[in-house]
Amino acid sequence: MIKKIEHLGIAVNSIEESIKTFETLLGTNCYKIEEVASEGVKTAFLQVGESKIELLEATNPDSPIAKFLEKKGRGIHHIAFDTSDIEKEIERLTKEGFELIHKTPKDGADGKIIAFLHPKSTEGILVELCQDK
Ligand code: ZN
Repeated sequence: MIKKIEHLGIAVNSIEESIKTFETLLGTNCYKIEEVASEGVKTAFLQVGESKIELLEATNPDSPIAKFLEKKGRGIHHIAFDTSDIEKEIERLTKEGFELIHKTPKDGADGKIIAFLHPKSTEGILVELCQDK
């Protein structure tokens, strides 16, 4: 079952600068900075009520975030939905005809396992499913 919007992922040029912007905007402090080497990305998280903002900076030119920034520039990169059973959701959404980028969950940032859906089957928005480890 999909429970809520877990976070919004935002692609940024500089994580240090964007942390300052969002800390001021939200009146809260970034609680975690974490690098996900397999994705070529450095992430920073800020809590907003029940949801979070995830800032994403590329750590190498082949990173999906580097490619996104090149094509579209800074901005919303993905929406992440919290699930109680990610494998069941992957199975359900595959049956419903959605194109999954990850057919089995993988390790993500902030203590989650994750899977992405291809934006071409979700109205142009990259969708992430996530579940607490
Ligand atoms: Zn995310």
